[in-house]
Amino acid sequence: MADILYTYKNSVYANITNKCNCSCTFCIRSLKDGVGSADTLWHEKNPSKEEILQAVRDYDFTGFDELVFCGYGEPTCELETLLAAAKIAKEEKGLKTRLNTNGLGNEENGRDIVPELAEVIDSVSVSLNAPDAAKYQEVTRPRYDNGFVKMVDFATKCKAKIGDVKWSIVDVLPEEDIEKCKKISKETGIELRIRHYS
Ligand code: SF4
Repeated sequence: MADILYTYKNSVYANITNKCNCSCTFCIRSLKDGVGSADTLWHEKNPSKEEILQAVRDYDFTGFDELVFCGYGEPTCELETLLAAAKIAKEEKGLKTRLNTNGLGNEENGRDIVPELAEVIDSVSVSLNAPDAAKYQEVTRPRYDNGFVKMVDFATKCKAKIGDVKWSIVDVLPEEDIEKCKKISKETGIELRIRHYS
């Protein structure tokens, strides 16, 4: 049975689904089963909304002040659960909430979900992954056409409504691509976080 909540470094993470609408070439899911305190993040069966809400209610968050939605899957593929769990985390547990996302949640849900997220999510980290549409398509292999444009649009909308938004890339990208990502960051006013690939 996979953990719904696990700790990694100084945060508690919620692994609410294994569903995803991308098939990234570098996806950690294809490299190892677990992260941090979790031995496996593969759910035998995706947990129900009720199971997830109960897990958040029952968890002892002593020493932690933030719940991060990020696991072996894309949290916005289970939007209703994500919103309900984030509401509990904020209102009943007094936590800050962060969403780590591939930025394709508007496509997935067929509408602009940013206003709903803004009500319960304090900060968003969007995987930029690549400096342009062609490279993005190559590495993330999204289920949708024009994924890059849609992801950039999502992040821009989050910036306008939520404010605390960052792009993330990993430092394995060629220097030239990293420079292009920095340019996108400058143009959109969204800070770029360059993570070390591990
Ligand atoms: S978006 Fe995340 S979970 Fe989905 S395939 Fe890419 S790396 Fe894996």
